[in-house]
Amino acid sequence: MFTKARLTLTGWYVLIIMAISIFFSIAEYRSSSAELERSFRRQVFRNTPFITPPVLPDFESSLVQEAERRIALELLLINLIILAGSSFAAYFLAGKTLKPIEIMVDEQKRFVADASHELRTPLTAMKTEIEVTLRDKKLDIKQAREQLNSNLEEVNKMQSLSNYLLSLSKYQDSKSHFEFTDTPILEIINDVAEKTRIVADKKHIGIIVEGENVTAQINPVSITELVNILLDNAVKYSHNDGKIIVKLRQENHLAVISVQDFGMGIKASDLPYIFNRFYRADSSRNKSHIDGYGLGLAIAKSITNLHNGEIQAESVVDTGSIFTVKLPLKMNRVNLRKISAIS
Ligand code: ADP
Repeated sequence: MFTKARLTLTGWYVLIIMAISIFFSIAEYRSSSAELERSFRRQVFRNTPFITPPVLPDFESSLVQEAERRIALELLLINLIILAGSSFAAYFLAGKTLKPIEIMVDEQKRFVADASHELRTPLTAMKTEIEVTLRDKKLDIKQAREQLNSNLEEVNKMQSLSNYLLSLSKYQDSKSHFEFTDTPILEIINDVAEKTRIVADKKHIGIIVEGENVTAQINPVSITELVNILLDNAVKYSHNDGKIIVKLRQENHLAVISVQDFGMGIKASDLPYIFNRFYRADSSRNKSHIDGYGLGLAIAKSITNLHNGEIQAESVVDTGSIFTVKLPLKMNRVNLRKISAIS
């Protein structure tokens, strides 16, 4: 697909260059031959001042024609060289122009394939269960209820996946539609921590919130989602009876949020990829069977990008992880312009 597009684009580039080149060649040819004829006439007039011939004498005329032929040949040669050179240059330029689009399309394809794969798993499980249940002639109400409960579990999984996908596309596509208001971040952290404690209590994990209240110009809904993702992960990947420390501080013109857990940690080989869409470290996929789609941190990164901030992860296996988010206190004009350039 891209080879064809590259050739078409090359064709257009060459066409434009050759149209310009031919236009100037014709203009050059016309003005040179007119100049030639004028100078020969001047010469003839100088030799025979009292007779101004309406046409050049044969000898001079053939000289003019010869010179014109030579100019035409030279221009043709120059145009052929331009054609050859511009074809190579245009092919190279077309490749450079299409490269980012090619990367984007590949990424999009991979994303659709991954999303379809993740959706197919619960759908297949549901379909098989329903088929088996329907074949059971002696199905009683208790079994039917169990079946519906199991189906509901799969539906919940699909719903959470579709919510993740929606979030991801929301933060990637329409960055200019977000409102940024001065918001006390500690309030957001406390709210999220309060809600997360319901899940954390089941694993006897304590959540400690520390720090000063920093007010920053943020989009509160998305920052709530960001803190939620980091705290959710910290609980998910912590051992029972663990502890999570959330800190907020101001560092120069930045609000710095850190979420630290003392859980299973992340292998150094996985660390560079955890912010990629659908990436799940093997340990969370296989060994511990922890639910997830590998989209949370990709959304967290999109949210920090939206705020012109950054997110980093440090981790040691079996010791714990610390995720640090840095957000500018003010979404000044420069930042906003940078953001719209990215979008
Ligand atoms: P999910 O948690 O749904 O798999 P995420 O995008 O939130 O997806 O995280 C990507 C991967 O990063 C996870 O699969 C896990 O391997 C790793 N990870 C994220 N947070 C932590 C954490 N606090 N401790 C250990 N591993 C983590």
